[in-house]
Amino acid sequence: MAPAAIRNDREERFPQEALDGLVRDGWVGLTIAEEYGGGGADPLTYCLVIEELGRGDANVRSILSVHLGLVAGSIGRWGTDEQKQRWLPKMASGEALGCFCLTEPDHGSDPATLEATAVREGDTYRINGSKIFITNGDIAGVALVMARTGGPGARGVSAFLVPCDTPGFTPKPIHGKLGLRSCDTAEIGLDDVVVPADALLGQEGDGIKVALSALDDGRMSLAASCTGLAQNALEVMTSYAQQREQFGKPIASFQLVQELISDTAVEVEAARLLTWRVADLKMRGEKYTLAASMAKYYASEASVRAANAAVQVHGGYGYVDEFIVGKLLRDARVTTLYEGTSQVQKLLIGRAVTGISAF
Ligand SMILES: Cc1cc2nc3c(=O)[nH]c(=O)nc-3n(C[C@H](O)[C@H](O)[C@H](O)COP(=O)(O)OP(=O)(O)OC[C@H]3O[C@@H](n4cnc5c(N)ncnc54)[C@H](O)[C@@H]3O)c2cc1C
Repeated sequence: MAPAAIRNDREERFPQEALDGLVRDGWVGLTIAEEYGGGGADPLTYCLVIEELGRGDANVRSILSVHLGLVAGSIGRWGTDEQKQRWLPKMASGEALGCFCLTEPDHGSDPATLEATAVREGDTYRINGSKIFITNGDIAGVALVMARTGGPGARGVSAFLVPCDTPGFTPKPIHGKLGLRSCDTAEIGLDDVVVPADALLGQEGDGIKVALSALDDGRMSLAASCTGLAQNALEVMTSYAQQREQFGKPIASFQLVQELISDTAVEVEAARLLTWRVADLKMRGEKYTLAASMAKYYASEASVRAANAAVQVHGGYGYVDEFIVGKLLRDARVTTLYEGTSQVQKLLIGRAVTGISAF
C-alpha cells in the first residue's frame, strides 16, 4: 500500500486496492471470533498488524481500526447471539464494513449531551439526527449509532446497529481534510431511520457505556498506528540523513540532526511499549481504560513530533509531496484530535490518578 499512498493522498483517492487486499487476505476479520469466520487474533497480534498498517498508510489503517476495534469488537462484547450471527460473519468476510457514529456537529468531546433521538414505536425505533466526521461513513454496511432514548445525560443514550442501506441513512463525504485525505470521512444524515427493536445493542441507556468500551480498544489501536507512523518517520529521516550531504558530509554526522533522530527513536520505543502494555492488560483480562488513554495520548503526540522531525531533517524537500514526510505530518495531526483529544486524555488520566474530575 505504501507506494500508492502519496498518489492517493494527492488525489484524495480512496485506497480501494488496499481495501480489496485486506478483504481478499482475511485481514478485515482479524480479531473477529473464529466461530463467525474471523481470525480470532489476540490483542497483541492486532496491535502488531495495526502498527504495520499505520507504518504503510494511516488511511488504510483507519478503515480497519474502526471496522474491527470500534464496531465488530462492540458487537462481540455487547451483542446478542442473533446480532453476532447477523453481523460478524459479514464483517469478517468484508461484505459489511463497520462505521461508528458518535460525534455530532455540536457534540464532540462531550458525547453524553448528544442530540440524535431514537423513539420507540411498537417493535421499532425511529432515529433522527446528524453525525459528523464518520470514518467509513460512505462505504460501511453497518453503523453503530448512538442516539437518545431517554432523558438528558449519559444514561439517556442507547446504541443501535443500523444497516447503512436503511432509508433515511444518508452519508455525505467530507473533503478538504488536512490529512487522511484518501480516507472516507462523512457527515451522516439520520432522517426517520426506522430499525427493528432488536437493533438495540445492549440495553436502553447503555449507549455511552458501549461507546466508551469501544473507545478503549480504539485508543489501543490508534496508539499502535501512531507507533507505526512514527517508525516510518524515523526510518525515512534516518535514511535521508545518511544520504544527504552538506558541508562535505552526510547530514547524519551533525549532532543536531542526530538529536532529532535519537529523540524520535526513543519515543517510538516508548509509544510501542505503552501500546503493548494495553494489549497485555487486555489479554490478561485486567482493566485497560487508563493504560489505553496513556498510550493514545503519548503515541499520538509522539507521532506528530516524529513526523515534524522528519520534515525538519528533509529541509526544503520535506515541504513538497515528492517525499512522504509531509503526508506523515498531516496524517499524524488528526490523531491528537480524534478518539478523545489530548486534552480529554489528560483529564481522563488526571481523574484516574487524583480521583477528582476536572471535566
Ligand atoms: C478525520 C476524522 C475522523 C473521525 N472519525 C470519527 C468516527 O469515525 N466516529 C466518530 O464518532 N467521530 C469521529 N471523529 C470525530 C472526533 O472524535 C471529534 O472530532 C473529537 O472527539 C473532538 O470533538 P470536536 O471536534 O467536536 O471538538 P471539541 O469537543 O469542540 O473540542 C475543541 C477543543 O476544545 C478542547 N476541549 C473540549 N472540552 C475540553 C475540556 N473539558 N477541557 C479542556 N479542553 C477541552 C478540545 O481538546 C479541543 O482542543 C473524527 C474526526 C476526524 C477529524
